[in-house]
Amino acid sequence: MKALVFDGEKAAIRDDVDVRAPGPTEVRVRVVSAGLCHSDLSVIDGTIPWPSPAVLGHEGAGIVDEIGEAVTNVAVGDHVVLHTMAFCGACKWCETGRPAYCRKSISNASQPFKVAGDDAWNFAATSCLSEYTVVQAVQCVKIDDDIDLNVACLIGCGVLTGIGTVWNRTNLGIGDTCAVVGVGGVGLNVIQAAKVRGASRIYAIDTVASKEKLAREFGATDFIVAGSDVDVVETVRKNHPTQIANIVGSFGEGGIDYAFDCVGNPAILNQCLQMLDWGGTAVAVGVPAFDATVPAQVTLLTHVERTLTGSRAGSHRPHWDIPLIVQAYKQGMIKLDELVSAKYPLEDWESATHDLHEGKLARGVLMVSAA
Ligand SMILES: [Zn+2]
Ligand SMILES: [Zn+2]
Repeated sequence: MKALVFDGEKAAIRDDVDVRAPGPTEVRVRVVSAGLCHSDLSVIDGTIPWPSPAVLGHEGAGIVDEIGEAVTNVAVGDHVVLHTMAFCGACKWCETGRPAYCRKSISNASQPFKVAGDDAWNFAATSCLSEYTVVQAVQCVKIDDDIDLNVACLIGCGVLTGIGTVWNRTNLGIGDTCAVVGVGGVGLNVIQAAKVRGASRIYAIDTVASKEKLAREFGATDFIVAGSDVDVVETVRKNHPTQIANIVGSFGEGGIDYAFDCVGNPAILNQCLQMLDWGGTAVAVGVPAFDATVPAQVTLLTHVERTLTGSRAGSHRPHWDIPLIVQAYKQGMIKLDELVSAKYPLEDWESATHDLHEGKLARGVLMVSAA
């Protein structure tokens, strides 16, 4: 079968790939489509260290092809969204509603594949840039057959990450103000989740001016084109002066309630911290190099209780959050179709990569097999 394989230096479509039958708790899925996410490209460029050979892809949807003997949550023929968290379901964190902290839910690489007869690794426990993949049953969430799998595939990473970040990692509520830096597939979902929660002002910030239209469609109230000649922190802060005129000094200014770095850049994360009002929260969403550090002014935390925190893929609870997102989509509260900027056959993954780097895409969808 066909798959996108990383060989340790580069990635290429190969047709000498096989995947084994599912074990007792596993499911084999015929992948219909998959979003091209930055994290796949980060494996190829070395930002995310990963063993090779490995089959890439971690944001997909498909149709259940075969189930292990202990699987009860899905049946052959079900349409499913895949997600990366192969959590155990029985540890302290799973039992208390935080599967993102389950130690089984990260870095649990295995070798269900063969490439040219040799064992090959999966990626993010998912590997959906492959005609077939084998995942844990807990990674499959059934959706209605009438939802386009070319759209649903985006839920498993970019949508969950963006929406989950706002809904699961913050208390952003009606009237709050926020800024979202990086208006790609994740940033747009942060924007629409903030809108659903009732944010009164949503700044979208990106270096690509043409992203303004989509950002506003998703709920942004303001758009700032970032560049070397623009002080984005001041641009935001000047609109939110403190309401108490006699407060002066380093901490007396106004600011916004939440700022999200969807790029994964320490300098941007620091800007996010700078934009905040007292008690505001900056959230690291985009993933930088593994050992990246952020030099932040500590007294912003000690004197005015700003918070610097992170979001692991929206800290999602997949079997709750994915149906919730699908329901919100059906009710018209959440946009998904508009996230799909272009569709490509799997073989054209390099065109999709090029378009992503050019800033042309919210998300590019790779069509892996016929629906
Ligand atoms: Zn991703
Ligand atoms: Zn667990």
